[in-house]
Amino acid sequence: MLAALSAGRVRVVDLTAPLSERTPVIRLPEPYAGTVPFSRAEISRYDARGPAWYWNDFTCGEHTGTHLDAPVHWVTGRDGEDVSRIPPPRLVGSACVVDVAVRVAEDPGYLLTVADVIAWERAHGPLPHGCWVLLRTGWSARGDDPEAFLNVTGAGPVTPGVSAECARWLAADPRVTGLGVETVGTDAGAAHAFSPPFPCHHFLLGAGTYGLTQLRNLDALPPRGAALVAAPLPIVDGSGAPARVLGLVDTGTAAGG
Ligand code: MN
Repeated sequence: MLAALSAGRVRVVDLTAPLSERTPVIRLPEPYAGTVPFSRAEISRYDARGPAWYWNDFTCGEHTGTHLDAPVHWVTGRDGEDVSRIPPPRLVGSACVVDVAVRVAEDPGYLLTVADVIAWERAHGPLPHGCWVLLRTGWSARGDDPEAFLNVTGAGPVTPGVSAECARWLAADPRVTGLGVETVGTDAGAAHAFSPPFPCHHFLLGAGTYGLTQLRNLDALPPRGAALVAAPLPIVDGSGAPARVLGLVDTGTAAGG
């Protein structure tokens, strides 16, 4: 593995959105409480407060920017793992990229279907054990524009996601470690009105699997064959945490997977 890395045969792809004051955060309707955007306060910057060092305090939610949802985030997973208790082997998995970007370009509220996943399996083989299903929508292109990213319309937020049926189906599949998306949350913008509401959260966290959000550069991964490394901060009793997420692509096998 190290030889492949040092020879440049393994490409490391950063799937993480930069974290800053401009990072979009989810907005919930009244009467629900919301999260704060990322902010920071300078402690010192090579000055009288600390002549040789620069550092900041920062404030943000557990669900800010590229982050991992732990099972306890949702009431259906309340007896499951908090983010600090996720076994490290579960944070390294097989990336399976299901690309619906063409459909989302026509319909920004597009929902992944079971048929889409079955079509992916026909083209690329069965989902491997320990896989992360990564929903490529192209939505990350909006990531530096919070209004376009959240896409709140008169009818509420319109962003792509997963149908309730497909969320139930993925959650019931023991091969699936988690679902990763490019949007602000794993559920579609309109998912408050689905049955059940927020089905990705409901089913996937209830089944003890995980969510990853605000991923970028999914277009740099092959449909299958890349390794995914998700590294959330191990906040004790945390419902989730900002994460650095990396893809490792073996360029010798990327084409065929
Ligand atoms: Mn979240």
